[in-house]
Amino acid sequence: MQKILIVDNIPANITVLIEVLNHPNYELLIATNGEDALNLALSEKPDLILLDVIMPKMNGYTVCKELKKNAITKNIPVVFLTACIEVEDEMRGLELGAVDYITKPFSPPIIKARIKNHLELKRQRDILENLSAIDGLTSIPNRRRFDEYLKQEWWHAIRTKSRLSLIMIDIDYFKKFNDNYGHLAGDDCLKKVASALDNSLDRKTDLLARYGGEEFACLLPMTDAKGALVMANKLRKNILSLNILHAKATNAGCITISQGVATQFPSPQSTPNILIHLADKALYHAKDSGRNQTKFQDEDITPEVTMA
Ligand code: GH3
Ligand code: MG
Ligand code: MG
Repeated sequence: MQKILIVDNIPANITVLIEVLNHPNYELLIATNGEDALNLALSEKPDLILLDVIMPKMNGYTVCKELKKNAITKNIPVVFLTACIEVEDEMRGLELGAVDYITKPFSPPIIKARIKNHLELKRQRDILENLSAIDGLTSIPNRRRFDEYLKQEWWHAIRTKSRLSLIMIDIDYFKKFNDNYGHLAGDDCLKKVASALDNSLDRKTDLLARYGGEEFACLLPMTDAKGALVMANKLRKNILSLNILHAKATNAGCITISQGVATQFPSPQSTPNILIHLADKALYHAKDSGRNQTKFQDEDITPEVTMA
């Protein structure tokens, strides 16, 4: 099912489009002014926007400009559907980033075919985008996706004045595991660890990603330090209970993880890097203190808290 947002201030035009686009694979959303269109685009993330140009208050060009300014809506293809037939009008629409410019009166079969093509292109782009955000070995989000999500949630936390927590996770003595059991067993272990960590998450907004090699990062929006430590403890216990034999590890005899936890109250004066820096620092302390444990780093100056 793909979503099409129709934006037009004249009800008769909307009625015609609803008829033309009546298809079981299309979900139609309607806005009769620019402001509603922007709100719907943000909340519903449609796959295509059919945008009228002449509307009172906010015209279609302004709507398109606003859509292209926002990271959430900027990749939604926009098709202008308009009675403005001058070459300059069309140029302006295309220069604003619209993928197509269709003048009224239009032929229903032609518009149907064009919309079908634009939706197919959008579908293919979504597939590629999704593939490039997933780690090939473990099938969980990759570093690229993590960086994107961290940036997004940092700003979201500033807007909602909420806390953001991060757990950096590193498998203990993984080089020895590879040396002892071979790289294929190592790969298999990484898959099992990734899956166990991912299955431990509670909320839809929590994100676990493969940060690199045998390191994972778990981002917890709207979570304070106490909540993050509870989650870290759960993650560590769930990895222990996988009970993956690791005879050469000096401690538990099975695969274990060390974790560094940090929590921030994001502000526009700071950057998400501080969260990674603090969690990394805590992870280093966890390793240094004997591994198979979690450390929390509040600010650079405060001493870390241990959780066995
Ligand atoms: P520490 O307890 O200090 O974390 O020690 P470690 O051996 O886990 O850490 P180190 O960074 O020295 O080694 C990480 C190892 O992880 C080295 C590398 O061979 C292994 N590794 C990284 N990516 C992969 C992978 O995709 N597959 C396999 N099998 N091994 C990997
Ligand atoms: Mg490492
Ligand atoms: Mg390691």
